[in-house]
Amino acid sequence: MLRCSILLAVSGIFLADALAAQEKGDAMKYVIAIHGGAGTIERAEMTPANEEAHRAGIEKALQTGYDILKKGGTSLDAVEAAIRTLEDNPLFNAGKGAVFTHEGTNELDASIMDGKSLKAGAVAGVEHIKNPISLARLVMEKSPHVLLAGAGAEAFGKKVGVTFVDQKYFYTDERWEALQKVKAGGGSAADKEKHGTVGAVALDQHGNLAAGTSTGGITNKEFGRIGDSPIIGAGTYANNRTCAVSCTGDGEYFIRAVVAHDVSALIAYKQLPVQKAAEEVIAKVGKLGGTGGLIAMDHNGHVAMPFNTSGMYRGTVDADGKITVAIYR
Ligand code: ASP
Repeated sequence: MLRCSILLAVSGIFLADALAAQEKGDAMKYVIAIHGGAGTIERAEMTPANEEAHRAGIEKALQTGYDILKKGGTSLDAVEAAIRTLEDNPLFNAGKGAVFTHEGTNELDASIMDGKSLKAGAVAGVEHIKNPISLARLVMEKSPHVLLAGAGAEAFGKKVGVTFVDQKYFYTDERWEALQKVKAGGGSAADKEKHGTVGAVALDQHGNLAAGTSTGGITNKEFGRIGDSPIIGAGTYANNRTCAVSCTGDGEYFIRAVVAHDVSALIAYKQLPVQKAAEEVIAKVGKLGGTGGLIAMDHNGHVAMPFNTSGMYRGTVDADGKITVAIYR
């Protein structure tokens, strides 16, 4: 059943090798994996052009990360560069194309973690930073802190010289219309109108893991609301001893289930394979009533990408540069 549905994924995409390997308990090895958000993504509602555009966005992010890793670059560089391409792509809910708050503003969250040093950096509620993932990295590398929020994060951004943009830079018709729809529905809407987020996990030639996540959050959120994405241990986690994880979904549930660290803990304490650990944690989120998914890569380059929604934009590159992208369940 699982095999059938995955084989039916986006045309031209073929995951059979990975599945066969996993069934033998010998999963394929990857160097970078990406997600572009989980939610209600119905094949019937996707135009071929829209599907192709999302696929191309994921492929570009994967290729960008792979090119860095292939040259011997670090997993941190690969994760940051891959996420920047998705932040610059208006189709994804991060950077340009971020969703709107109830007030019609954009507030962005991002985080990054280095699996070697266990250092991490994050920003929350920034409103004028073109690439929040890069500011998160600078918080990690150029401040004694892990998480900076709002005006303080932006003041730090000025000091370290990141690119600032007007709020109107983030505007897209699609996200604006989604906000109007959610408001008209009294605040409730299908999660396709609310969700998004982008993330990456990578393993470099030095054996180091890194993870990063960037988001506009959820449509119609209260201003000041912060989701799981900038919370180390909830939306993002990396540890060379276990795995690197980036999450997407209902942030409130992912915070309460401490999802990203829980995957790592199951590997550390119960010696679960990454696939089992990741599935177990997404099942916990589901039991709480939350929807979403995650990507996780262990220190051997095995990847798990479970989700409990109808789709999750996702993709992998193996050590030979073979790119695989999928969207639907
Ligand atoms: N996790 C993100 C948040 O709650 C949203 C998403 O991934 O869809 O801010």
